[in-house]
Amino acid sequence: MNITIIGSGPAGVYSAIVSAKLGNKVKLVEKNDKLGGTCVLYGCIPSKAMLHPLFLKYLAEETGKKLNFSFSEIQKKLQKNVVNRLSKGVEYMLESYGIEVIHGKAQLKGGNIQVGGQTIPSVKIIVATGTEKPQIEGTIASDDLPYLDKEFSKVLVIGGGAGGVEYAWLLKMSGKDVSIVEKSDSLLPYLDEDLKKAVSAYFKKIGIKLYLSSEITLGDKPRIGNEELPQPDIILYTFGRKPALDGFEELPHEKWIKVDKRMYTGVNNIYAAGDITGTFTAHEAIHEGFIAGLNASGVEKYYNPEAVPKVIYTEPQIAYVGNTKGKCVKINMAEIPRAIAEGLTEGFLKVCTEGKKITGAVAFSHDAENIITLISMFINYGIEIDKAIDFIEPHPSYLEAVFEALLRLNS
Ligand SMILES: Cc1cc2nc3c(=O)[nH]c(=O)nc-3n(C[C@H](O)[C@H](O)[C@H](O)COP(=O)(O)OP(=O)(O)OC[C@H]3O[C@@H](n4cnc5c(N)ncnc54)[C@H](O)[C@@H]3O)c2cc1C
Repeated sequence: MNITIIGSGPAGVYSAIVSAKLGNKVKLVEKNDKLGGTCVLYGCIPSKAMLHPLFLKYLAEETGKKLNFSFSEIQKKLQKNVVNRLSKGVEYMLESYGIEVIHGKAQLKGGNIQVGGQTIPSVKIIVATGTEKPQIEGTIASDDLPYLDKEFSKVLVIGGGAGGVEYAWLLKMSGKDVSIVEKSDSLLPYLDEDLKKAVSAYFKKIGIKLYLSSEITLGDKPRIGNEELPQPDIILYTFGRKPALDGFEELPHEKWIKVDKRMYTGVNNIYAAGDITGTFTAHEAIHEGFIAGLNASGVEKYYNPEAVPKVIYTEPQIAYVGNTKGKCVKINMAEIPRAIAEGLTEGFLKVCTEGKKITGAVAFSHDAENIITLISMFINYGIEIDKAIDFIEPHPSYLEAVFEALLRLNS
């Protein structure tokens, strides 16, 4: 069967691969010259390529040494090596599965995909067009920062959500003077109370200036109410991405394209996956792409958004899954032997339950991504406390915080 996929981000690539593996003839349309989408070209990968040297710097400082990387040094590493290599990797991967890549802007007309006036014959279609960055005069978006060709020292970050927090930490670690403006009364306002308090306090401690409960007015000089802020060299706008719906307006949508748990839009054999459906991480996009590819190929499989781990890549890392209602315990990282051994005792893990059921967790700690991934596996497979406690974590590891939490919850 002919399956056409729009977008070469994580959702498009994985829906293409699974569709090809199931014996379909797959075409993938991408409007950009390079493959990989927001994640590879502007988002996850460039930001993490910049993060790694700064993490080394952080570790050095924890042991009383000095290690310096300038922002332009870490930018160079990124452009030369990482982004191009991964984008080429996507190209080879698609080629190895026999997927035909068409470069051009696709649009949906009467249920058919058209590129440059030509109709692409398709029995099934998967739309994975992702999002567009916000374009606000006088500001740059997170996508632009890795490629910024300008010396700067003072940065004003607008938005204290995941993107704002992640880049504010990165810029602070690369020696910049960083402030964040957030209209709620803490960073990460939509997250667990203990987590957001800890992160806000930590950011103040490392010298990031926070303007909380504050709305910015942009203009010649940024202002909060009547207070004029010191003129920053750059203003980084970190929220407000828009769905890339141009040419796909005929699909059912409010802001995002509506899909059921099979990623089906309900019309004309068209599926959708990834950010365009209103989820905002690459791993959700990959998984949704996978589910869309399976269902488009006739294999029924449902998407379960309950146990998706989320990570904000600062150091300590911020990670969470599920919800933190019910009975919770908190383990300080200062209790965990590995954290003590490495001097990385900042932060905590909080795990919550209802009866024997593990409902969610948040972690602000070194290795929080792995801690939360383990808990998300317990939630995903419905593994209750008395079974989860049988899982043997290596010693000494940060994962032992999970065992300590389960032990206390099980008492
Ligand atoms: C700064 C930043 C950092 C991030 N860091 C992380 C992270 O660390 N971890 C994480 O999980 N997520 C992260 N994300 C989010 C992640 O990038 C997205 O969730 C992910 O890229 C979504 O994948 P997607 O396939 O849905 O869409 P996208 O990656 O946006 O890909 C969509 C593709 O479709 C193409 N396209 C759009 N319209 C058309 C059209 N009409 N015709 C042809 N092609 C079209 C686009 O050019 C693009 O290549 C980050 C995002 C940003 C902005």
